[in-house]
Amino acid sequence: MTTRIPLMAGNWKMNLNHLEAIAHVQKLAFGLTDKDFEAVEVAVLPPFTDLRSVQTLVDGDKLKIVYGAQDISAHDAGAYTGEVSGPMLAKLNCTYAVVGHSERRQYHGEDDALCNAKVRSAFRHGLTPILCVGEPLEVRKAGTQVAHTLGQLDGALREVPAEQAATIVVAYEPVWAIGTGEVATPEDAQEVCGAIRVRLSQLYSQEVAEQIRIQYGGSVKSGNIAAIMAQPDVDGALVGGAALDADEFVKIVRFRD
Ligand code: PEP
Repeated sequence: MTTRIPLMAGNWKMNLNHLEAIAHVQKLAFGLTDKDFEAVEVAVLPPFTDLRSVQTLVDGDKLKIVYGAQDISAHDAGAYTGEVSGPMLAKLNCTYAVVGHSERRQYHGEDDALCNAKVRSAFRHGLTPILCVGEPLEVRKAGTQVAHTLGQLDGALREVPAEQAATIVVAYEPVWAIGTGEVATPEDAQEVCGAIRVRLSQLYSQEVAEQIRIQYGGSVKSGNIAAIMAQPDVDGALVGGAALDADEFVKIVRFRD
């Protein structure tokens, strides 16, 4: 059986400037111990403007926290004003790049084809995509959340080979639970995360599916994380609001306590 190390990733969204980022990561570093890092991989996903500060701090203090970007361009270079490329993120030693967060899908019109191009861009440059999938409220009400989410997964993984797919992180984030305080029940999370793993085994193989970490995201807090993590197909969390409070994020990392 494959042992998947849980990944707790803090998505800061558009919060914290580069100085606040340093203070926040220092607080995390003080709060977390070697024992925490043995049990859980801890990542922060700051705005682009903070990445250099976080890199300097992580490298200088040999911190075990890893970091990544909240988005990545599908293109490697050129006339794409406002975009940030895979090579730029790789140069900053980013481990992760979030792809297809629901806020990008909703406010920036990102569709599955673009998410696919971004996933492939991340892999091209040695970055691990955290691919976000999940249904909006009307889909949940119609009871078609599994089909909807698997459709997004299929679209984003088109032509991604098994050896790359085996390293991806998939974040199941029901849109109605993001930033709303409305958390999915552990059973809701397991239903879709389990279906994602089955689909990954069909797209690739059982062996590949067993290696892939599937996170839950949507109003995760220290008070609800343990029950969510108890589900067999949930391998971590993508944490928004609660990740802005360093003490709370440390408690989420210590979900077993
Ligand atoms: C997110 O930003 O991915 C997220 C899940 O946000 P929140 O935890 O605030 O719901």
